[in-house]
Amino acid sequence: MRALVFSSFGGPLSVQEVPVPEPAPGGVVVRVAASGVCRSDWHAWQGHDPDVVLPHVPGHELAGTVAAVGEGVRRWRPGDRVTVPFVNACGRCPQCAAGEHQVCTRQTQPGFTHWGSLAEFVALDAADVNLVAVPEALDLATAAALGCRYATAFRAVAHVGRVRPGEWVAVHGCGGVGLSAVQIAAAAGARVVAVDVAPGALDLARELGAEHTVDGGGDVPAAVGELTGGGAHVSLDALGAPVTCANSVRSLRPRGRHVQVGLLPPEQGRAEVPMERVIALELQVLGSHGMAAHAYPELLGLIAAGRLDPHRLVTRELPLDDAPAALAQVGRQPGIAVVTSFSRVSPAG
Ligand SMILES: [Zn+2]
Ligand SMILES: [Zn+2]
Repeated sequence: MRALVFSSFGGPLSVQEVPVPEPAPGGVVVRVAASGVCRSDWHAWQGHDPDVVLPHVPGHELAGTVAAVGEGVRRWRPGDRVTVPFVNACGRCPQCAAGEHQVCTRQTQPGFTHWGSLAEFVALDAADVNLVAVPEALDLATAAALGCRYATAFRAVAHVGRVRPGEWVAVHGCGGVGLSAVQIAAAAGARVVAVDVAPGALDLARELGAEHTVDGGGDVPAAVGELTGGGAHVSLDALGAPVTCANSVRSLRPRGRHVQVGLLPPEQGRAEVPMERVIALELQVLGSHGMAAHAYPELLGLIAAGRLDPHRLVTRELPLDDAPAALAQVGRQPGIAVVTSFSRVSPAG
């Protein structure tokens, strides 16, 4: 099969022929129809993820059809249209028993703990626990975006941040997860302030429901404080950088909730959280890590009802041959890029 491969951290990215994976007991192999190109893939390529073993195939935001079913899988058959959260839970540990699959202590992650979905086929573990059926009305490119950025943003806003109508929500960083959070928070009735350094990302944030936008290069906490009359109720670091994390905490009003969504690998510097404000203002500092498969029906229901429209986040569809450049330049263009064709492009097109 064809796959995007790298053999050294930060080294060349190329499309190569590699063996098709076999399904593990309890797992499946999915023929990938769509796979998003995400900042987390960039972190894997840069060597920021300790799970990655070289050579490696990245990719963790996927949708496709079941191609092969491993021993003991009960719920899935070849041909089923599926997506999957990027955290594949074991289904058996104490966290899973409590329904908290997104923090499973024995999780696997395609594109990190094993080869991922920027390839024609990908192996997924514990299929009965992790696979989500994609409704016929939802195209697979949009479904792929759910697996990481959109579902992550949904849980961060709705379940962890517990955003209520009328509240002010600040979103720091308007990449894929940030723009998703803007749309989801606005749909929840919140008033959204979007922050980014790129004017194009802020334009898109406004289109997706942000009431105000703030240039991330200035004094962000002061600007958010002024626009919201004293600070946001909920603030998300959707980028994952020391500056956006600190700005997010400093953008909150008393009793506000900071939600950390963007990855903060120590290689890029430790975030400085102003704990004196956390205590004096009774702030909450909350982590949010993906979303369990069993939580998808609520999200899919809101999409089916037209309340949420993740399709608007998918700004580019690419062939696999363009994935190396897209991964190397992740974040340079606003919105979500999704690889939707995996075969070699013929000269005839
Ligand atoms: Zn588990
Ligand atoms: Zn991702």
